[in-house]
Amino acid sequence: MEIKILGGAREVGGSCLSVETDSCKIALDYGIKLEGEPKKLPTDFDAVVISHAHLDHTGSLLSLSKHNPTIVGSEITRDVTVDLLHDMVKIQNEKGKFDYEDHHAERIGQCWWARDAIALSGMKINLQPAGHVAGAKVTTLEAEGKKIVYTGDICTHDTEILKGCKLETLPKRPDVLITESTYGGKVRRPRQQLLDEFMEDLLKTMDNKGNVLIPTFAFHRSQEMAKRLDTAIANGYLPRYNVYTISNLAHKINDYYNHNKQLFTKEIRKQKTPFNYKHVKHLYRTAQIEEPAIVICTSGFGHAGASLRLLKDWANNEHNAVILTSGYLPPDSPLKTAKEEGYFKIEEETFNVKALVKQIELSGHADQNELVEIVNKLKPTRTILIHGDLEQAELLSERIGEMTDVCIPQQNETIDI
Ligand SMILES: [Zn+2]
Repeated sequence: MEIKILGGAREVGGSCLSVETDSCKIALDYGIKLEGEPKKLPTDFDAVVISHAHLDHTGSLLSLSKHNPTIVGSEITRDVTVDLLHDMVKIQNEKGKFDYEDHHAERIGQCWWARDAIALSGMKINLQPAGHVAGAKVTTLEAEGKKIVYTGDICTHDTEILKGCKLETLPKRPDVLITESTYGGKVRRPRQQLLDEFMEDLLKTMDNKGNVLIPTFAFHRSQEMAKRLDTAIANGYLPRYNVYTISNLAHKINDYYNHNKQLFTKEIRKQKTPFNYKHVKHLYRTAQIEEPAIVICTSGFGHAGASLRLLKDWANNEHNAVILTSGYLPPDSPLKTAKEEGYFKIEEETFNVKALVKQIELSGHADQNELVEIVNKLKPTRTILIHGDLEQAELLSERIGEMTDVCIPQQNETIDI
């Protein structure tokens, strides 16, 4: 059996691996790198298994639409992926000529097998919850007497709406564990501490009748944040305030979530329509905002859409706040210089930042301790580290090197099993 790293080696972005036996060839994820030229991936797979609906794991799927692929993944991953591909078609066609149209995105949905187990020629594939976002899966693959576990993006701690991955349900002693290593070198502060800090910043800004901008991704982080604020107001932990979400995609995803309550925590499952919020309103445009307000909106990196508009409007007031909960910011994001240098530039114009800009990382990824725990519990013979910068992967390798053979492959490297 051969594993080839087609993307996501020593970096985050463009995740794709191929696993080939004598009788079968599959891809694990089919992502795109958001920066740089898109890379052409092979298309000759018997099946493509998608771990979850983030574009760095799904974004190249349009190029398979003409090949009648068999795509395997959860139902919610399918629905959100198809929406995000439609979005991509729209944005790219506005920018210039793009090779794909809406019917190609639709086709991907039609080729999807939404199930947790599938048998191919000489290969069995099983999917189990990964805890990273709704519908995210860990893939186990058995072929030629070998067992391989691929984590996709994984999170072993619980969040407000989702249970973390239950390691005891994953297969023990696999021949190979292929794991993400985004935070392979980082130990995070306890989540409760981070949440307390987040709430304190909100309370301070609310006291001053300030506005709070929370740039957030439409899929999952938006629902998690809206539910967090909705519950805090309902419990009296936060005072009543104007709280809004602005993202039509996020609004649509709320519906998928309401219809798939079984994916979420016990607390969520008890509620009739948990993602119809009582204290958080959906708006279509920033012009509808009644200030002072807390606004959860896209883009998550603050470089476009409602996030950018509100950043421009609110940054110059010391009573306002911008709170980022994602760990990563692209180098060209205005939020990066806003946070680090107190200004940001859009085209030729410079904007000063007096508002509080803070990053409180409420991540959906395992940190170093969690990743070590995964290796410790699963006891793989060999561990392949992908989806993490080289430095992060090396720091993780130092911690797990005595428990397992560690490999940090390069792009296009082939590993014989
Ligand atoms: Zn992800």
